[in-house]
Amino acid sequence: MQAYDVVIIGAGHNGLVCAAYLLKAGYSVLLLEKRSIPGGGSTTEETMPQEAPGFKFNPCAINHIFIHLGQVVEELELRKYGLEYLYCDPVVFCPHPDGKYFLAHRSVEKTCKEIARFSDRDAEQYAKYVEYWQRFVNSIDAFFNSPPKSLVDIAGNYDFKKLQDLFSVIGGVDTTLDLLRTVLSSPLDNINEYFDCEFVKAPLARMSAELSSPPSQKAMAFGAMMMVLRHNPGMARPRGGSGGLVDALVKLVTSIGGVILTEQDVEQVIVDDGKAVGVRVAGGKEYRANKGVISNIDAKRLFLQLVDEKDIDSADANLRDRLDRRIVNNNETILKIDCALSEPLKFEHHDHRDEYLMGSVLIADSVNHVEKAHTDCTIGLIPDEDPSMYLVMPTALDPSMAPEGKHTLWIEFFAPYQIAGAEGTGLKGTGWTDELKNTVADRVIDKLAQYSPNINNSIIARHVESPAELGERLGSYKGNYYHIDMTLDQMLCFRPLPEIANYKTPIDGLFLTGAGTHPGGSISGLPGRNCARVFLQEHKPIAQALKDARDTITSTVKSVFKGD
Ligand SMILES: Cc1cc2nc3c(=O)[nH]c(=O)nc-3n(C[C@H](O)[C@H](O)[C@H](O)COP(=O)(O)OP(=O)(O)OC[C@H]3O[C@@H](n4cnc5c(N)ncnc54)[C@H](O)[C@@H]3O)c2cc1C
Repeated sequence: MQAYDVVIIGAGHNGLVCAAYLLKAGYSVLLLEKRSIPGGGSTTEETMPQEAPGFKFNPCAINHIFIHLGQVVEELELRKYGLEYLYCDPVVFCPHPDGKYFLAHRSVEKTCKEIARFSDRDAEQYAKYVEYWQRFVNSIDAFFNSPPKSLVDIAGNYDFKKLQDLFSVIGGVDTTLDLLRTVLSSPLDNINEYFDCEFVKAPLARMSAELSSPPSQKAMAFGAMMMVLRHNPGMARPRGGSGGLVDALVKLVTSIGGVILTEQDVEQVIVDDGKAVGVRVAGGKEYRANKGVISNIDAKRLFLQLVDEKDIDSADANLRDRLDRRIVNNNETILKIDCALSEPLKFEHHDHRDEYLMGSVLIADSVNHVEKAHTDCTIGLIPDEDPSMYLVMPTALDPSMAPEGKHTLWIEFFAPYQIAGAEGTGLKGTGWTDELKNTVADRVIDKLAQYSPNINNSIIARHVESPAELGERLGSYKGNYYHIDMTLDQMLCFRPLPEIANYKTPIDGLFLTGAGTHPGGSISGLPGRNCARVFLQEHKPIAQALKDARDTITSTVKSVFKGD
């Protein structure tokens, strides 16, 4: 049996980040990936090699935001391994049916000028909205960069500016209570408090709903971050596609001795005397892990699919039931459409400018349009009568992703995983069939054509992936690309459950990382980094404590001398 210090189940970007930190600390690491390529939700693939050769697509993530809130890129020196980020500016365009539009530049000031074309009041309000939520983000990002229950780590991440912002949002008793009230409110409540105009409200509702819940959902007002972060730290894409991040990580990991094996579907975590000691893959081969097994897949999949019931029960008699019943995956996921285009989209009813296509394009006619797009999914309906969507034309920013003069189009349409009334039919009993996914995709494209009529004659080829197929590819419950829902009750030290929120599990030597752990889904690398930190604290407590203390002192000294 081949033996390593650490075996990681899954080579998503978080598994790779975690591996890189452990390899740098001197451990031998094996990553086992079930697909034929590493990367999970951060790949770039030539999805249609026959019909559209030379066109490269991101089947999942495209816009990288959260990774710029942490130090992963710098600490791992990923630029040395070929990673280059291209920043989007403008960051969001949302055409309104009445001819107005919302165009957000990276600069808040420029964005306010765009809003002021149609509403002076909402332009002024926008500056206040962004300023408030930016302070909120600054005051909590210390949590993102630490294991959620490691108070010393969290405290060490506060510099002078972050402390200032923290005290500005929790200044006195009433300010703190008011912040709490805001946090408990819905994105919609918060947006209505600031703005009058639908052409501003609708895109902000759409952005908040990126956390996969309707704008009216209480305790989700922090979804405002999804817009605010696009201004600062900004929204970027690796040159060549999201796979550029994975390529750099793979180069780093393999150059320092890490081993990545693909087409290795882990079927079993081997537990011996209460300790995780290795894994078994499909076909029966076993790999030994002398120091630990780390899972890049979420706790629910890990324990309910890969760990023997007896081993879980003897470590924690309640865990199986809690994972099964307490962790929530709603019914909403994505129907993904990728197109090869012969020419760029043209928003001809909105005074077309090529810069509209640099960032995210939202089709969100009203707040109610967005609301329906999400609530329908919850009850198993497909909101395709009048589709709302999120799209990107990646080649506007990075022409290298298609043959010269040609373009690619990435469309994300929120759709139910399980269709109501179609239980037991279609793929995996979800009701999704090839015919249905193509009918829905036709409707989505028809809606887009109301804004960009030239789409109808510019599609060279298209690839549609139904929610059931996406679920198959990612392996997650109900195709949840955040592994588990990103609602407040499942964030921070509640993610995925309080007793396993600090990346450790009741089985000795078995650790969790990935989107299903703090700080959650999306491209950040932070679950990978934080998990590695906990693993190292466990195995090299003194060395790691000294390193953490040095990092804290360095960052404090830097912040004092920068004068911020
Ligand atoms: C359509 C779509 C669009 C998105 N857009 C964005 C975006 O623009 N920006 C953003 O930040 N995020 C986006 N996301 C979310 C983002 O892709 C994920 O949250 C992120 O990739 C999670 O990374 P991870 O490493 O934690 O997990 P994953 O990427 O899910 O990696 C887990 C890995 O484990 C492997 N695996 C699973 N089971 C096994 C097994 N039994 N044995 C071995 N290997 C296994 C999987 O194949 C996978 O490679 C999007 C997701 C989707 C689906």
